[in-house]
Amino acid sequence: MSIQDLWKTVLGEIELQISRPNFLTWLKQSEIVEKDEKNGVVLVGLPNHFAKDWVKSRYHKLILGSLRNLDGSIRSIDYIVLNSQNAEMLKKRVQKTQASASAAFRPQEPLLELRIDPQTNLNPRYTLETFIVGSSNELAHAAVQAVIDDVGTKYNPLFIYGGVGLGKTHLIQAAGNEIQARYAKRVHVLYVTSEKFVSDVVWALRNKRMDDVKSKYRDVDVLVIDDIQFIGGKTATEQEFFYTFNTLYEHNKQIIMSSDRPPAAIPTLEERLRSRFEGGMIVDVSYPDYEMRLAILRTKIQQQNISLDDGILEHLALKIQNNIRELEGVLNKILFTQQYKGEKITTKKVDEIIQEVAHVTSKHITAQDVIKTVADFFGVSPEDLVQRSRKREIVEPRQICMYLMRDSLNLSYPHIGEKLGKRDHTTAIHAYEKISKEVTQNPQLNQKIVLIKGRLQKGS
Ligand code: ADP
Ligand code: MG
Repeated sequence: MSIQDLWKTVLGEIELQISRPNFLTWLKQSEIVEKDEKNGVVLVGLPNHFAKDWVKSRYHKLILGSLRNLDGSIRSIDYIVLNSQNAEMLKKRVQKTQASASAAFRPQEPLLELRIDPQTNLNPRYTLETFIVGSSNELAHAAVQAVIDDVGTKYNPLFIYGGVGLGKTHLIQAAGNEIQARYAKRVHVLYVTSEKFVSDVVWALRNKRMDDVKSKYRDVDVLVIDDIQFIGGKTATEQEFFYTFNTLYEHNKQIIMSSDRPPAAIPTLEERLRSRFEGGMIVDVSYPDYEMRLAILRTKIQQQNISLDDGILEHLALKIQNNIRELEGVLNKILFTQQYKGEKITTKKVDEIIQEVAHVTSKHITAQDVIKTVADFFGVSPEDLVQRSRKREIVEPRQICMYLMRDSLNLSYPHIGEKLGKRDHTTAIHAYEKISKEVTQNPQLNQKIVLIKGRLQKGS
C-alpha cells in the first residue's frame, strides 16, 4: 500500500471522529508527503500555516494513533505547509521516494498532480468518469449532465440533496471539473463549502474587506457550493449569500448546490432564500442498491489495479448499505490489510474490519435501543415485540429486531432469543437468515432497515 492509501485510510477514520465542519476545514486538504522509512517519520502537508498549527495542536494525537495503528513502524509526524515555493522540491523528493519504495503496489497517480486547483478550488479526483451511476443517483447525474451542456440557463440553481457519503460532493465537483475542462479559460468556476463562505464573510466584516469577498464570489461564472445547509441561521451571511445569489442568477451564471436535505427542511433558512432555491431544479441522491454497491467496489479495485476475491466484494456490498464513503473506507482497510500486512482476507476478516470501522462510527447501542427504535418505527409498542403475538404486523418488526441485533450488535443467537421474549435461539437464526436474504431482493425492506439504522445512530 502506498503512503497515499495509508493517509486515505487515516483520514477516513478521523473523519468519523471529529465534527464535519472541522474535518472539512482542517483536514480535507491535507496530504501525506513522504515517509522516512529509516526513522519512522511521516511528513504531513497542510495548505497554510493556520491549518498546520491547528492540526498540530488539536489533532496530532488522534492522527498519530491512527497512523500507528495501521503501521507500527511509524514513530512520529512532522507537519509542513504546502505552497508553490516548496512544491517543486517536494515533487522531486516524492518521486525519489516512490522510485526506491519496495511497496507492493504503486499509487495510481503522482501525488502533486492531484493537487486541488488553487484557482477553482476543485479537486481533480472527482470526475464523471469515476462516478458510478445507478438508480439511486441517475436523476441527479442527468441533471448535472444537462447543466454541463447548458450552463447557466437550463437548471438554475441546481440543488442536489441526500444523506452523508452518497456522492453529493463528488457529483458537484465533477460538474465543476467538467465545465472547466469543456469551456476552458472562458469560464471561471469556483467551488466552496458553505462553511468557507461563512468564514469569508465573517472575516470580511471584521476586517472591513467586504468588497474583496463580493468580488471573489460575484465575478464567477459557475459557483459550486457544498453543504449549503450550514448557511442557515446566520443573518449577515445569509444576506450576503442572497445578494451573491441574485447577482449571479440575474447574469445567467450557474449555481450548483448540495445539501443534506431539501430546502424546505432546512429550518433556519430564510424564506426568500428558500424560494430562490426552489426556483431551479431539485434532485436527490438516495441509498445505492446492492448491484450498485458491488459495481462501485469492483470499479474501485480495478482502478487501483488490485485483485480481491469477488465473494469478498459481495460480502462487503451486502454488509454496508447506507454510505458509500464507509464502503470505500472499509475497502481501503481491507486492501491495506491484504497488501501491507500480508494477511489473507476472509469474510470473517471483513466482518472484523467492519466492526473496527463501525466501532469508531457508532455510539454504543444496546439491544434495548434496537427494540425501542424498531417499535417506534413501526408504530407498535416494545412490549408487543417481546410478547408472543403472531400477528403479521408484529412478526416482521420482530424479525427485523433480531436481524439488527445480530448484524449491528453482533449479539449471540441465544442472547437475541432471550431479549425478545425468551424465544429459542433457532427462531433468532431463522429471522436473521430470512431478513438477510430479503434485504438483497426487496428494496422497500432495505430502505426500512437503512432508515432504522440511521435512527439508531442518531439515538432518536
Ligand atoms: P457526500 O458529499 O454525499 O457526503 P461524497 O461525494 O463525499 O459524499 O462521497 C463519499 C465517497 O464516496 C467519495 O470518495 C466518493 O468519491 C465516493 N462515491 C460516492 N458516490 C459514488 C459513485 N456513485 N461512484 C463512485 N464513487 C462514489
Ligand atoms: Mg459532501
